Amino acid sequence: MRTFFFTSYFTPKKLGAEIWPMQREGTWWQQTFANLKSTIKITLLKQDRVVGIGNILASEFCFAAKISPFQSTHTISMEQWNRLAETYLQRLEAILNEERAEKIGYLFEGSGVPSSFQVYSREGEPCPNCGDPIQKQQQSGRATYWCATCQPLRTSEIS
Ligand SMILES: [Zn+2]
Repeated sequence: MRTFFFTSYFTPKKLGAEIWPMQREGTWWQQTFANLKSTIKITLLKQDRVVGIGNILASEFCFAAKISPFQSTHTISMEQWNRLAETYLQRLEAILNEERAEKIGYLFEGSGVPSSFQVYSREGEPCPNCGDPIQKQQQSGRATYWCATCQPLRTSEIS
């Protein structure tokens, strides 16, 4: 036990791949997160798989890709991974463009409430796609924002 603690303390934390500025394909996203059983929103926060997705971006990316943040990662279909790959970069760059430089640090930390988000911190406000109210729920102690209409929960296993 003691040895393990000592070793892990001095071993640099393994960090995952960058998602920006290069485009990542759907197959890359699928392979990066393959077999993880937690929900997709929690999975996206795993810094040992992908660096830089904080709590805000995880909600924003799920919304842009029309994926329920509560869907189990191992049931995400190729079509859904492709949609994530096709939307995340545009969403990220739109947020970066709209925010002042000093706020970007907050963005990646997952705190602060800038105005350029489509769902984050917008509980009860109309969804920019369909007009239904944005939902908010705690997920592993962090706030998740989503549109239940645009991001229906898919529970079927994908073989
Ligand atoms: Zn909607």
